[in-house]
Amino acid sequence: MVFWIIVVVIVVIGLLILASTRKKTAVESTAVKTHKECSYCNEEIEIDAAVCKYCRGIVVGSS
Ligand SMILES: [Zn+2]
Repeated sequence: MVFWIIVVVIVVIGLLILASTRKKTAVESTAVKTHKECSYCNEEIEIDAAVCKYCRGIVVGSS
């Protein structure tokens, strides 16, 4: 009986770790894809923007 309790605990912990790592990667990928920081005023702007909407600075570059 003790053996089965240990097996269940290990499976539950494994599932929790799997769920937490999946959530982390999803959040990181969406945050990186949609916005970037303006190099002039450090405001958050669209990743595809060529001109910053806050300071009108020309934003060139990738990432
Ligand atoms: Zn700016």
